[in-house]
Amino acid sequence: MKKPKELHRFYKSKDWKLAREIKIFDANGRCERCGALGEEVHHKKSLTLNNIGDTNISLKQNNLELLCKKCHNKEHKRFSNQQQFDKEGNLISR
Ligand SMILES: [Zn+2]
Repeated sequence: MKKPKELHRFYKSKDWKLAREIKIFDANGRCERCGALGEEVHHKKSLTLNNIGDTNISLKQNNLELLCKKCHNKEHKRFSNQQQFDKEGNLISR
């Protein structure tokens, strides 16, 4: 899936880079789940075009989690599994 422009812009913003640095520093550069090298800062409540302007979600430290690649992939697999259901809860086949 292509990243919407707004998300792309957000990830290039100074505010995000700073929030990310602080998170990495706080977590001592380690994945907060398994202790491996932390490489990606994950949003616990995932960013959408509706909440990206809400800094309580996009930039607040308590919505951020430092993860290694493995844990981050796992996390997103979980999200994409959720998206396989439509509004009525029916499984959407891909
Ligand atoms: Zn991990």
